[in-house]
Amino acid sequence: MMDKANSSAPDFSFYVCPQCRGTLAVAGATLHCSACRHNYPVQHGIPDFISEDLTQSTNPVLRQVKWLDLLARVYESKVWYPVVLRLFAGRGQLSFAGLINLVQEMIGPVNGVVLDVACGPGTYGRRIASLSRRVYGIDISRGMLEQGAAYARREGVSNVQFSRAQVETLPFRDAVFDAAICSGSLHLFQDAGRALAEIGRTLKPGAPLAIVTFTAGREGLFRFPRVLQWARSRGGHVFSVSELESLLKENGFAGYKSTVYGSLLTCRAQKS
Ligand SMILES: [Zn+2]
Repeated sequence: MMDKANSSAPDFSFYVCPQCRGTLAVAGATLHCSACRHNYPVQHGIPDFISEDLTQSTNPVLRQVKWLDLLARVYESKVWYPVVLRLFAGRGQLSFAGLINLVQEMIGPVNGVVLDVACGPGTYGRRIASLSRRVYGIDISRGMLEQGAAYARREGVSNVQFSRAQVETLPFRDAVFDAAICSGSLHLFQDAGRALAEIGRTLKPGAPLAIVTFTAGREGLFRFPRVLQWARSRGGHVFSVSELESLLKENGFAGYKSTVYGSLLTCRAQKS
């Protein structure tokens, strides 16, 4: 079903230059920053704010971006989420629908604008967007973003906007978001503290942040030390509850509520 908002041209005025936070102007198929003269291409309605070639990155996680592009097609199918949840949360602990509900509960009934960090194909963003709730999803994988935009079109979800960007340099002004989601990605960021600080910069005071990440729990795959060791050797980070809460505190968040499901850790915090 197509609605009016869906058929109109996308509005890019919410984005700013990730380099200098200057205002961007639409110039043909690019967004142009008149302050620092950077140009950001827009393809299929998705601005690309990443100028470097990630396949050449010094960060091993970022070099895997091609695999993420390929994973996009199966990401929301029966072969990915249910299997991952069963492996990490433990048998019968958490369903896909249960996880979506948890994230919804963590951000609460906020209206306004929501940031979805490392959004993949908008797995959460598409499901929480509404007429009174606009979602901005960012991810490093174009394949994931294109898939998300295709799903959103098919489902008639118009209030989700995707862009390719990195969490360390978000293309948004200070204190513009009413809530943020960071599910399934904090453990992959090279510097989780820096990522949290940058997410916090874009949040309004008191705005909730919903995190889903991994921990060495009593159930799920990370109860096995060898699996833990393997994940860490691949550039992944496995948090303890106190470690995550300290990181949040150091980076301007308060009011934590953490819950462990097997090897999955969820945490709700609030921008101070
Ligand atoms: Zn600029």
